[in-house]
Amino acid sequence: MTTSTPEEARTQIVNMVREFVRRDVEPVAAQLDRDDETPHELINTMKELGLFGITVPEKYGGMGLDYTTFAMIFEEISKGFMSLSGAIGTHHILTYVLTHYGTEGQKQRFLPKLASGQIRGGLALTEPEGGTDVANLKTTAHKDGEEYVINGTKMFITNGRYGDAFCLLARTDPDAETKHKGISCFIVEKGDPGFRVGRDLDKMGYRGLDTCELFFENFHIPEDNLIGGEEGLGFGQVMSGLETGRINIAARAVGVAQAAFNAAIRYSQQRETFGVPISQHQAIQLKLADMATKIQAARLLTYDAAAKKDRGERVDLETGMAKLFASEACQEITLEAMRIHGGAGFIKDSPVERYYRDAPLMIIGEGTNEVLRLVIARQLLRRPEYQI
Ligand SMILES: Cc1cc2nc3c(=O)[nH]c(=O)nc-3n(C[C@H](O)[C@H](O)[C@H](O)COP(=O)(O)OP(=O)(O)OC[C@H]3O[C@@H](n4cnc5c(N)ncnc54)[C@H](O)[C@@H]3O)c2cc1C
Repeated sequence: MTTSTPEEARTQIVNMVREFVRRDVEPVAAQLDRDDETPHELINTMKELGLFGITVPEKYGGMGLDYTTFAMIFEEISKGFMSLSGAIGTHHILTYVLTHYGTEGQKQRFLPKLASGQIRGGLALTEPEGGTDVANLKTTAHKDGEEYVINGTKMFITNGRYGDAFCLLARTDPDAETKHKGISCFIVEKGDPGFRVGRDLDKMGYRGLDTCELFFENFHIPEDNLIGGEEGLGFGQVMSGLETGRINIAARAVGVAQAAFNAAIRYSQQRETFGVPISQHQAIQLKLADMATKIQAARLLTYDAAAKKDRGERVDLETGMAKLFASEACQEITLEAMRIHGGAGFIKDSPVERYYRDAPLMIIGEGTNEVLRLVIARQLLRRPEYQI
């Protein structure tokens, strides 16, 4: 019996996802975007392909893949329909936090169901008064016997309507020495009227995926849902999860940018002006060269951050750089792809208009690029290895 090497296994999985995207996703992406319709069937196929458990250890029913393969999977899905990658994006942050910080009991209770997609997960961090300033969150969790009682409102929660369980940050100690230290992380499941889903937000892009408000009104959960069983550690647990979230966002940006480039280079060879395909005009060639160069740079930064994570190295700066560069490049490339299409690029028949609307999510999600620049700068000033 032959066993495949890790590289062969990676190639097989990435090819499987690419085939799924070409066969099932690309033909319906425009319609799903237009109708803002949740692609339940595609999500079910993703469950069958094991994509809900890509980084969950095999011991708990997942595939236990590395972050380089993880990045490649997000890139492939996003070439077809970036919204679809959102179904497993914050789901992954929940599985990450459980895998790295959960008690053994919590891992056994939740990870197998999350890995199979029987339970769909999400991340409930942002609040009306606390997005970038997460530590300003107002949601509280009061201990009441063997339970916690949760009260508060979460905002912009991806998978809010169709997700089943969420990684939730709430304040357990209002008198803590610093705001961060008073925050704890819980896994909360739907099923009790104290946990209510509000309106679906009508988004310019990232359509076809539910993003909602969540309301918690005297919502009781067992004390055992406190991740890791210790209060006050939630902020650090989730920030660590967000580092891998930035690999996922950077990879999505590479995927969308690549799709925009593919459409643009194809169109440039078909559309003729002044008797020649526009690809023969130097002005268009300069755009194509810049676009492809930026995509390659973004991809390499993303894979480099993922490889460092795979080696167990510190990646706060690296994932920040990858996410910052890839998302800004994606925004520029989708605009250039639209310009290469001329008027046709502004019309909804062309996919480049969707890529252009999807690109800003990567600039905002998992930490805005403004704030990421500050995080990167702080690290640069502290870490001598970057002063070479
Ligand atoms: C489609 C979508 C899906 C999302 N999904 C989720 C989800 O699943 N779970 C979740 O928890 N959240 C989610 N979010 C929330 C997202 O993470 C936040 O929107 C983001 O962190 C920014 O927070 P904010 O919107 O409150 O902006 P604000 O924090 O109000 O920022 C406004 C502006 O001020 C800038 N700014 C703020 N503070 C500083 C500073 N110190 N220095 C410099 N500039 C600053 C920001 O960069 C931004 O430009 C989602 C958002 C969107 C749009």
